[in-house]
Amino acid sequence: MENCIFCKIAAGEIPSATLYEDEDFRVILDLGPATKGHALILPKQHAANLLEMPDELAGKAIVVAKKMAGKMKEVLGCDGLNLVQNNGEAAGQTVHHFHIHLIPRYEGDHAGVSWTPGKLTDEVRDEILKKFA
Ligand code: AMP
Ligand code: ZN
Repeated sequence: MENCIFCKIAAGEIPSATLYEDEDFRVILDLGPATKGHALILPKQHAANLLEMPDELAGKAIVVAKKMAGKMKEVLGCDGLNLVQNNGEAAGQTVHHFHIHLIPRYEGDHAGVSWTPGKLTDEVRDEILKKFA
């Protein structure tokens, strides 16, 4: 993808603060971090979102996330970690090259990775179950 900034970063054409790299992925620090150490896993192959990711690459992305989670706990001393992965503008995706946010969490931080819980009614539950059957 010619004009994709994450393609260029993943390929090393644009410099980035790289924490990890292998043949399929580059993990960089997010320029607008939610917390200290907020990073992004970028595949080197372009896919706009999760639905466009080849199965094998999608699987590998989670393995990278796991590896990074262990390293972040070890070197940053974080108390928890959120994986966030936005798909589509409605979901808050602003860069349309698949990426997984790795957001280290620290006791008492006020990073806003949350939502207000609603209530699953019987009617909605049944409607959805019917659609998935
Ligand atoms: P999303 O809303 O899931 O599409 O997230 C895009 C993320 O990319 C945001 O957290 C931005 O701060 C981050 N971002 C955008 N451009 C860059 C860049 N050049 N280098 C590092 N992070 C970036
Ligand atoms: Zn791209």
